Formats: sequence, structure tokens, C-alpha cells
Amino acid sequence: MSSLFLKIKNFIEDCIFDLHNKIFSSRYVIKGKCKKCGNCCRNILFSTKDGYVKSEELFNEMQKKYKYYRNFRISGVVQNKQEFQNGALTFECKFISKNNKCLIYPIRPIYCRNYPDLNPELIYGGVEMLDDCGFYFDVNKKFCDYLKNMEN
Ligand code: SF4
Ligand code: SF4
Repeated sequence: MSSLFLKIKNFIEDCIFDLHNKIFSSRYVIKGKCKKCGNCCRNILFSTKDGYVKSEELFNEMQKKYKYYRNFRISGVVQNKQEFQNGALTFECKFISKNNKCLIYPIRPIYCRNYPDLNPELIYGGVEMLDDCGFYFDVNKKFCDYLKNMEN
């Protein structure tokens, strides 16, 4: 078999495999709706290549280096979470009003427009929605549904 033919055959098999996974495998979906509480604008975590930002000194350095971080102030510290998050600083966006309105809504950043972004890698890594958020993660097809199908 020629190597070109093999490449085409493998490519088609990969496409069929991906398509099958997209249609039939179980995956996370976002359900619910926004309660407009503003908590996600007040409990933001930042991370560097070394993990979550846990010190004011580091945040000051980041603000000096990147203007973008000057739009945030420290709002608290994560406690009683998994080890990798514990002690991380939380940040509040300076554009959230007291009555939970975004003061730059028409020109808000892409991250805010897409929130809550469905990123399975983050979910598998242990990231959760904020307590009391109106959105929640669910799976489109549960393991017990697969079992039921097998029994039928
Ligand atoms: S925390 Fe959830 S419910 Fe509250 S404003 Fe953000 S997305 Fe909406
Ligand atoms: S820019 Fe607006 S939506 Fe984005 S974090 Fe700030 S207040 Fe929230």
C-alpha cells in the first residue's frame, strides 16, 4: 500500500472516530441561567506558569508589567478548597457597580462575554462554578443511560 494511500486512510478513520465521539460520547454541557449576582466579577482568580497568584507582591509586579491587571483589586483569599487553589487571592473587577451592573458592558472583554466558558480541561482539573451561581455543569448523557441502553 502506498504511503499516500495510508495517510488518506488514517485521516478518514480519524475523522470518523472524532465524529462518532462528538455524536455519541458523553460530554459536559452548561445548564441554568445567570442570576446577575455579580459574584463572578468579584471572585476572579489569576494564574501564572507557577500556579494561582497567592501574594500581593506578585500581583503588584503583574500590575507594573501589564496594564490590564490594574483593572482589578484584591477581594479575598480562597479557603477550604483543593490544595492547588487554597490560599489563592481573589480579585474584583473595578468595573462592577454596587448594584452588580457592568459599567463597560458594551465593550467588556471577550472573557466576560464568553463566561461561563465550557472548557472540559478546566472541569477535569477540578474547577467548579462559584457557589450560588445560576449556571452549573452537567453531562449530556450519564453513565447510567449507557447502561440502560445496553440492557435494552
Ligand atoms: S456568578 Fe453566575 S449567576 Fe452570578 S453573575 Fe456570574 S454567571 Fe451570573
Ligand atoms: S468587565 Fe464587566 S463583566 Fe467583565 S469582570 Fe468587569 S464588571 Fe464583570
